[in-house]
Amino acid sequence: MNELAAATAESLDVEAVRAQFPILARTVNGRPLLFLDSAASSQKPRRVVEELRRFYYEDYANIHRGVYELSQRASQLHDQARRAVQRFLGARDWREIVFVRSTTEAINLVAWSFLRPRLRPGDEILVTEMEHHANIVPWQIVAGERDARVVVVPVTDAGELDLDALRRMLGPRTRLLAVTWVSNVLGTVNPVAEIAALARARGVPVLVDAAQAAPHLPVDVAALGCDFLAFSAHKMYGPTGVGVLWARLEHLEAMPPWQGGGDMIDRVSFAGTTFADPPFRFEAGTPDIAGIVALREAVAFVEALGRARIAAYEAALVARLEARLGEIPGVRVLGRPARRASAVAFTVDGVHHQDLGTMLDLEGVCIRTGHHCAMPLHARFGLAGSARASVAVYNTREEIERFADILARTIALLRG
Ligand code: PMP
Repeated sequence: MNELAAATAESLDVEAVRAQFPILARTVNGRPLLFLDSAASSQKPRRVVEELRRFYYEDYANIHRGVYELSQRASQLHDQARRAVQRFLGARDWREIVFVRSTTEAINLVAWSFLRPRLRPGDEILVTEMEHHANIVPWQIVAGERDARVVVVPVTDAGELDLDALRRMLGPRTRLLAVTWVSNVLGTVNPVAEIAALARARGVPVLVDAAQAAPHLPVDVAALGCDFLAFSAHKMYGPTGVGVLWARLEHLEAMPPWQGGGDMIDRVSFAGTTFADPPFRFEAGTPDIAGIVALREAVAFVEALGRARIAAYEAALVARLEARLGEIPGVRVLGRPARRASAVAFTVDGVHHQDLGTMLDLEGVCIRTGHHCAMPLHARFGLAGSARASVAVYNTREEIERFADILARTIALLRG
């Protein structure tokens, strides 16, 4: 970390941040909650929960339908959330922001509406060995329908993408490259701008899965140079049930709808229906209006802290976490990437990760155990699963030390 980053990291008042998360004050099994599973879903700050409540109590109505004041007010708040997300991502145009249910739905939308119509037998979709199942299975489904193939960029022993292999694998049949920005298991931060430049130089569109990046790193789609980017509100201090797909407007304009219903049409008759312009064409039916409105507060929460500051603060936590894990006998940290964000996965010699998770729960510690929806990555390391600790901006240095102490004790106990 350079000096500037260190200075910014120190300037984050973590106790003031924690005070915004009431759940962090609770105990679990009689112990103070030590929440290290934010990669699965983050906790929620007061301003997000209060906005949900306020919206339902004061401004709630369905959007884009009523001529009455309340519906117009709800529609306005929904529009403002879209513009907040547009600014947050550095998008050129609000029409490039599509509200969906989750990262999973965003990727499925691209698979069905963008890729499927242009996929021919023998075509290839490039993914990587470190993808979450959400960035594998939708491509397999459309590939299966079209006799196309999913081709996999390997991961090195260090837990990084093999960029030489990626270069070689970008071929004349590659129709899309789908890559995660941050691995939800290893925490590896991939050089997605460099990867997008490589792919686009060969005319290959790029989808970036930013589910694990949006809460931790500055995001600027113009600087990234990708074609599609997806993230989920619930991992970024926002509500469940809301996700965002950003796509270049020219793609959205050329894409057919993938779900039909209310709100996505221009005119409907039994002779034929015409569709609305993006983003509405992709937003059939009543969305999670309150969730979208409250997402704006999650965005404001992150922006108020500053994304560079969050990244610097968390980088110091992750470095300490990795160092402490490395000192515990029997613990093996997966990968050694040059840059990690939030997540560190590990195994313990002679101890099953499930047993470890159960024992840690008794100490008030929440970590994730299992395959973390990344079975192929675990297979790559010869594992069925692992334990994963992941941090967010509300975790403290003291919590990392306490976690490592509890973990060392628990392992000693389990290994007898
Ligand atoms: N991609 C990555 C990298 C993830 O970590 C996750 C969630 N674990 C997803 C996609 C899927 O997100 P969601 O379940 O919110 O759709």
